[in-house]
Amino acid sequence: MFLQVSNLSKKYGNQQVLNNISFDVSKGEIIGLLGPNGAGKSTTMKIIAGCLVPDAGCVLIEGFNMSEDDLEAKSKIGYLPENNPLYEEMYVAEYLEYVAKIYIKKRTVKERIKEVIELTGLQKEARKTINQLSKGYRQRVGLAQAIIHNPDLLILDEPTSGLDPNQTEEIKGLLLELGKKKVILFSSHTLSEVESICSRVIIIHKGNIVADMPTHETDNLDTLFKTLTKE
Ligand code: ADP
Repeated sequence: MFLQVSNLSKKYGNQQVLNNISFDVSKGEIIGLLGPNGAGKSTTMKIIAGCLVPDAGCVLIEGFNMSEDDLEAKSKIGYLPENNPLYEEMYVAEYLEYVAKIYIKKRTVKERIKEVIELTGLQKEARKTINQLSKGYRQRVGLAQAIIHNPDLLILDEPTSGLDPNQTEEIKGLLLELGKKKVILFSSHTLSEVESICSRVIIIHKGNIVADMPTHETDNLDTLFKTLTKE
């Protein structure tokens, strides 16, 4: 098992945001974490990425416990947070160099930047500053920084949020390409997006996992999603 999420719980003040959730992920899977706003998707992803400590439960990445062996665990993860925070004034290549130097050996930085720029289709934009880019290209920069250390698992929090239909299609294509070599866990509140990219869907509602199944297994995921997530 590549990723094991066991009995995660999290409270903010009095609000129980995650309620004892568990799931396992094997290599080769693209998983959609689907749920309405406020369901607990970002909280789950922040905990898996090691950015937030749960009140209970644990996350194992290839056997490394995120709370005990965090350096090993984090080295296997690439994370694109919601809203994709970037340094706007930096040039694309300059920003990627800055991130790369944190993660990888200095002598490999130049070559790796070239690779990720090609992988994410940023060749034409690499000499612009980030604030000159369209939202779709900014997402590509976010993806490029997430894969810079060649992690096996990508955690992408609403990577297509706010994109127009063309940009969404382009990012979806990129995820399918990346998913050939990496495990991808991405969140969305759009069912059709999850259906078109993922091999498996996990539906989360009010901090509980209410369904976990292969996307092809139900003919009527739409009705199921609406039923499971209604008040
Ligand atoms: P989703 O990603 O599914 O939209 P989140 O995990 O962001 O859901 O949020 C789940 C719930 O936790 C929401 O009700 C949200 O308001 C609350 N929440 C998230 N972050 C915080 C925080 N830092 N402090 C207090 N409440 C929070």
